[in-house]
Amino acid sequence: MSGRRKVVAGNWKMNHGPAAAAEFFEGLGMPPSGPRVMIFPPAIALPAAVAAVGAHGGVDLGVQNLHEAESGAFTGEISAAMAIEAGAVAALVGHSERRHVFGESDARIAAKAVRAAGSGLEPVVCVGETRGERRAGRRQEVLHRQIDAALEVLAPGTAFLVAYEPVWAIGTGETATPADAAEAHAILRARLAAAHGESAAQVPILYGGSVKPGNAAELMAAQGVDGVLVGGASLKAADFRAIIEAALP
Ligand code: PEP
Repeated sequence: MSGRRKVVAGNWKMNHGPAAAAEFFEGLGMPPSGPRVMIFPPAIALPAAVAAVGAHGGVDLGVQNLHEAESGAFTGEISAAMAIEAGAVAALVGHSERRHVFGESDARIAAKAVRAAGSGLEPVVCVGETRGERRAGRRQEVLHRQIDAALEVLAPGTAFLVAYEPVWAIGTGETATPADAAEAHAILRARLAAAHGESAAQVPILYGGSVKPGNAAELMAAQGVDGVLVGGASLKAADFRAIIEAALP
């Protein structure tokens, strides 16, 4: 037993505006106590999510992305301070779509993680290999490179989370096996411990990639898997609630 609390996080991506966000939280109701529940709505739906969650509590809200600068001429971007003002407590950084669709580098993701942490948001540092990298036997090398970039700039003791999301499993319906997830999590856990010492034991490592109500319990029971980051199945309140229930002891 790690002693770390399970985390169930939902990433809505570019789905659910303010009205749909309010409807979702009405459907979700008060989550069962035990796991930490987090939702990352589109930034424009964050105020509606805050208002809806405010009524029953129990869900931490975050943003899916932020800019690494404090403020300035960055049309279309949002800052960490704005996200906090709107009610965010966490920020995804380095999601595979940011890396592979928007071309964000390890260095940029590290800068975003530092900005988030320095501003009082908990970064959720997402890492994961592509199918090609996996086939080429490069998973460990890729995970090391991606996590090291963040660990080099986040001070030991910083509050943050890591999400292992193999790119080939995101939105594809294919999941890592529990054994496979456990192996990747062990690689990341060792790296965290080597870089940050004892404080690294507090950092949850989540699994993400086609998590559904039907496979969530098995994945969360895998060695070293402290919770899940859920995309598609976080859009429906009933499915997401079932995943939260799968995290109960
Ligand atoms: C994600 O977007 O982080 C994700 C894991 O998506 P999905 O659950 O749909 O694979």
